[in-house]
Amino acid sequence: MPVVSEVTMKKITCRCDAVIEIDAPDSIDLDADAAMVSRLATGDSPSAVCPRCGAIVRAELPLRVTAKSCGLDLVILPEMERLSAYRGKADPAGTSEILLGYQELFERTRMVRDELDARAVELLKYALQGKAEEAEPDAEITVFYNGLKDGSLEFHILGLKSGQAGVVKLPRASYDKVVANLPGSIAREPYKTIFSGRYRSIKKLGFLSSTSDAG
Ligand SMILES: [Zn+2]
Repeated sequence: MPVVSEVTMKKITCRCDAVIEIDAPDSIDLDADAAMVSRLATGDSPSAVCPRCGAIVRAELPLRVTAKSCGLDLVILPEMERLSAYRGKADPAGTSEILLGYQELFERTRMVRDELDARAVELLKYALQGKAEEAEPDAEITVFYNGLKDGSLEFHILGLKSGQAGVVKLPRASYDKVVANLPGSIAREPYKTIFSGRYRSIKKLGFLSSTSDAG
């Protein structure tokens, strides 16, 4: 039997300061672990119950995730390293694509499961985020791909203040159109910037525009 996920015990600290041992792998091969694909796609990451206060503690530890079948080679860094990563100061060795925070891993796993092109989904998210920001310029909008529903791509829009339902469905045909035009689109801004470097997300645009405004 091949070892599909290397499991090692790690020490993490709960909010109550108790130190807990958690069973968390250093790397995951999605091709060899279909159960892990379903698990991550639903937003389930390695966790443990704190024996002192009973809280569920999740390990946001650096993780390598690969899937040769779809050319996937990722390093997931903790969300708290986001700003250092934007400044190019958190880059791990190698050439793996970087994701920031486990929410981005869960989202990417759903794209792998649904066999979607991550860049095309990011283009759709960019359009949705732009619309949401037009409606609510002061809101901190985040858009996540949530999965295929009845043949449509479902997205969750977080951060809306108006209390509107933050769920948007786009027909598969819209996605197919974006895929067909992808080579031309990614040669132009803002997509050229979004897909340059090792972190390829619309989220870095806000940071880049704030730093260029500052001079
Ligand atoms: Zn605790």
